[in-house]
Amino acid sequence: MSTTTEERIDWRNLPPVTEPLRPDEDPEAAGARAFVPREDWVPSQTFLRQHDRCDRSAYLYMKYRGGAGGHELNRGGLFHETIDRCLRWLMERQSEVTYGGGDFAGDFVPGIEERDIQAMATVPPEVGREFLFEVMAENAHMQVPQHERDALRYMVDHWCRGTVFPNTIIGVETTFTVEVEGFRVLARADLVEDLGGGVCGITDWKTAFPPDSEEFTRQAYDREGRPRWAGNYQLNMLAVLAHFGVASDGLPLGDFQRYRLTLGFPRELKPEGIVRRIIEVDSLQLEAYREDLALQLRRLREVNLGEQRWQATPGNHCRECTAETECPLPPHLRAESEGARLDSIEGLEKAAVAVERMGARSRTLKARVKKSALLMEEENPGILTLPNGDRGVMCGKDIAFVFIPTEWETITDKAAYELHAQDVAAGVCPPEFERFRKLSQGTEFDKRKVQR
Ligand code: SF4
Repeated sequence: MSTTTEERIDWRNLPPVTEPLRPDEDPEAAGARAFVPREDWVPSQTFLRQHDRCDRSAYLYMKYRGGAGGHELNRGGLFHETIDRCLRWLMERQSEVTYGGGDFAGDFVPGIEERDIQAMATVPPEVGREFLFEVMAENAHMQVPQHERDALRYMVDHWCRGTVFPNTIIGVETTFTVEVEGFRVLARADLVEDLGGGVCGITDWKTAFPPDSEEFTRQAYDREGRPRWAGNYQLNMLAVLAHFGVASDGLPLGDFQRYRLTLGFPRELKPEGIVRRIIEVDSLQLEAYREDLALQLRRLREVNLGEQRWQATPGNHCRECTAETECPLPPHLRAESEGARLDSIEGLEKAAVAVERMGARSRTLKARVKKSALLMEEENPGILTLPNGDRGVMCGKDIAFVFIPTEWETITDKAAYELHAQDVAAGVCPPEFERFRKLSQGTEFDKRKVQR
């Protein structure tokens, strides 16, 4: 884009997109360039989380139907499905003990004795392992590499050993829905419990590493110790939906005045169980959160869908963007997308992680460029010849990745080499160091200046 064109664009008020998002319309009526979600469109939790931070990233999320999968996403999906089965297994068993079997309807309410039994109940780790295997076998398309499968095994094991249920479980993988601003919004809770005294517990399992306790407190509570919306978008939305909406059976959840929202991290098992981060909100706060949600959905209806203007607003969240390369903002206007803020140790660490990941991605891409260039050269000899006679691929005005033949020597058996060196020094035998040396040849693909 030329500087003159860039100067004319109002970056804080971008024009409408040329490929509009038209939910609930027939694709033909919507026009050739429009894209229409496949089913009756309900803004999902993930869509709304993205939309809360950057309208354009939510648009890209829809355009690419959630974007490419990834190991982390698959890991989370497999873990949640496994724990769902574990919890249903546990509840069915308790239902059998109490009522002598029958179909589990998700509304098991144990008596005092059963409650004691339930409080002590856990899912045996071997049962968890079997479920995990079953879930992985049934979902072969959800690829996770070896180290993630290993992580899943130990997380399921931790979860089984470190999670007890002293409260009444009133829902597993329960979907709540509510109508806000003409949209039906839904969110799914991993576990819903009646904690007694008008308190409802909602838990979400996370397969990432937990934030440290202080960081979480800083994010989730203000200086006076009051919990705030910024704690976790997903949990707060769940609490709003659980309080004002209906559960999967079409009925309201119950008369709860407070909600204890928990993030459970099975990465770490402590003597007291898996690591948890907890925040508690009351119904008054939820009123305010519902108003926030209504404001957000009004923007979605009027500005985004109505005018097809999807503003791009950069920040640390850019790292989670579905299609960052389609962001209309040029990279120099979203410097934060390259990493975290650098004014705290957490920020520095996040940036360092981003650097490490970018480095790994760039190494992989470089290896692919090298391999593809060689294949291309096989079919078109001479195609890689650079202006100075070297072979390579230009990567700047006068700089290129150049193929450089290299040779290097390795010692095949270091211990034997050292023994031999000692023998030679002691005059026991003549030097025969060549026996331990191996000469290798290869081709490096390195950046060099190219004189035209
Ligand atoms: S890169 Fe950042 S600013 Fe651009 S669309 Fe994605 S999240 Fe929004």
